[in-house]
Amino acid sequence: MFAGYDREKIPEIVSQYLRTISQHAINGFCPYCNGRMESTVRAYDARDVDPVSAADRSEDADDRFHDHPEVQFDCQRCIIEATLAVDHALLLAEPAVTNFYYENGILLQDCLIWEFSELNLDNVEIEHRKPIRVAVTFRIDESALTVVVNETFDVKVTDEI
Ligand SMILES: [Zn+2]
Repeated sequence: MFAGYDREKIPEIVSQYLRTISQHAINGFCPYCNGRMESTVRAYDARDVDPVSAADRSEDADDRFHDHPEVQFDCQRCIIEATLAVDHALLLAEPAVTNFYYENGILLQDCLIWEFSELNLDNVEIEHRKPIRVAVTFRIDESALTVVVNETFDVKVTDEI
């Protein structure tokens, strides 16, 4: 699928491709069959993980799983499912987040997807577990934006400082 592109352009194209299919899923459409995607926010609790599969994971992966909330997308028509970290999904698709970065001089459109982790997302907090409510704080210097999402990845509250 990436044939015919200049070699040095490939990271950009791959990032753009991932961005497109992620946004499609976040907007509720399966990127493959256009069926309805259902989104569910969940957080792994290290205590819920069974010991066998936990032993298979590196320490790194364990850290990542520990209480790091994700959005799972399930196509209601085909077998496609996908998972994104809640903070990354917001960076990809929440206009309030895009605006916040824009106002602070960062064009998210120009960032490669795998550079998101360098954007200093220092705060992802589970405010409530059942039903789940996750607050993500994006921070640039003195400014901060907090976005709260519910169990179906609806943005409930945004709060800018
Ligand atoms: Zn599908």
